[in-house]
Amino acid sequence: MTAPRTITVRTLDHGPLELRCPTWCTGEHEDDVHRADISHLGPDQPLTLPTRSGPVTNLVTALEVRPYAFDGFLRMPFVNVGIGADWYPTGLPGLEAMADTLAEQAEQLREQARRLAVLLQEARR
Ligand SMILES: [Zn+2]
Repeated sequence: MTAPRTITVRTLDHGPLELRCPTWCTGEHEDDVHRADISHLGPDQPLTLPTRSGPVTNLVTALEVRPYAFDGFLRMPFVNVGIGADWYPTGLPGLEAMADTLAEQAEQLREQARRLAVLLQEARR
């Protein structure tokens, strides 16, 4: 975390706008955007899986807030979850549900590993 920075964004619909970035904002702020599209972004935090080809990202999370968004949900900090090519703005209950689902899926993966271990043991006989 760094000290908050103050920036000026030149908007297409509200002229120059002075903004204070949240301490976690590491995003670049471009000019000539609509005010509703202004977004403070934290760094991407990829979740990876180890594969035979090396680590592969299965999802990315990043803190975000869009202080002038039309959708009130986006005006409060949220976590944007990137899965494949799409992003899913997610609040606290949604993140908890994703974490619970990932934990359940980890158990499914362990069950698959146990089945594979049995098959490999049988194949060696
Ligand atoms: Zn910012």
